[in-house]
Amino acid sequence: MAELAATIARRIRREGPLSIAAFMAIALLDPEGGYYARHDPLGTAGDFITAPEISQIFGELIGLWCADFWRHIGRPDPVILAELGPGSGALLEDFLRAAATLPEFRRALDLYLVEASPLLRDRQQRRLGSAGAHFVAGIDALPPGPLLLIANEFLDALPIRQLVRGRIEWAERLVALDEGDRLVFADGPENPAVTLLVPPALRAHPSGTVVEICPAAAALAAALGERLATRPGAALFVDYGYSPSAPGATLAALRRHAAAGVLDDPGSADLSAHVDFAAFAAAARAAGAVVHGPLTQGRFLAALGAEARLAKLSVGATEAQRAALESGLARLIDPAQMGNLFKVLALISPGLPAPAGFD
Ligand code: SAH
Repeated sequence: MAELAATIARRIRREGPLSIAAFMAIALLDPEGGYYARHDPLGTAGDFITAPEISQIFGELIGLWCADFWRHIGRPDPVILAELGPGSGALLEDFLRAAATLPEFRRALDLYLVEASPLLRDRQQRRLGSAGAHFVAGIDALPPGPLLLIANEFLDALPIRQLVRGRIEWAERLVALDEGDRLVFADGPENPAVTLLVPPALRAHPSGTVVEICPAAAALAAALGERLATRPGAALFVDYGYSPSAPGATLAALRRHAAAGVLDDPGSADLSAHVDFAAFAAAARAAGAVVHGPLTQGRFLAALGAEARLAKLSVGATEAQRAALESGLARLIDPAQMGNLFKVLALISPGLPAPAGFD
């Protein structure tokens, strides 16, 4: 048995079955054997590929979106620019290059990165250190003041819980050990307290239905909502997911661009789940933020002028570069590729016009 699996098995023998969220937190973040502690997941040699790795236009347009919002809140200087889970740093690099065309905006930016992986922190430091990026543990550690926050494919990495409809009440799906000491899924007892965790609109689904909830995402949305209610700012989330809330098990493991077993060799594969944007939006709204979206990534990028940006970049590009720019952007926008599955959600302070792309 691989090392992290043995650690998890010991913990289950000691404390009983784990929630899927507890399992995910260990599998992804354990400082020794966790996936993010040991892997640099991005790129063709890694386990998955993301929008900023596919096209520079993605980060550039997000930079221009932030610049536009910054004008709406009166061009504060300084303004905090925070990124959650910056990965290779590509998004921010493209963002800053676009921001440099508006020197006043670029100069006002004070960069903060929230990154759990020491490997990726090193990579981000090398790529963005000269831009003066600070690392912080979470949004609670950000200084006060006007905020621009961006996060691409961050929410899908947060630990989820799975709840299963039983005969009468709901039960929690847990990670347990079988007789051979292998990790297996096992449902806990039906319990009215678990039923209360299920979004009310989904409680009447039939026996066997699975619903996912993400307490960490809800807590993040609430904290951001509270902050945006009292200090000007915006938070832009891009991720694959759905709205309205819906039943269905979406938790999946990915290793080298292929599906893997969620419980097989924990720490060796990325784990993620589709984002319930409706639940995320509701938590932010309840805490005082105004929510725009979600709308599809395809529509968002098109509304921000992706085609014009492509045309501009194509001037002076070689034939091969032009083809790569075109196919990269098509992959992000095409409804059959990432254009529809990926959604964009903005949380903003009250009393402001709709941000670019959402009007
Ligand atoms: N935004 C990047 C990377 C996406 S992968 C891109 O689009 O390419 C998810 C990122 O979130 C990684 O950088 C990962 O290390 C980070 N991450 C995952 N869970 C985290 C957590 N709980 N706290 C901080 N960072 C986390």
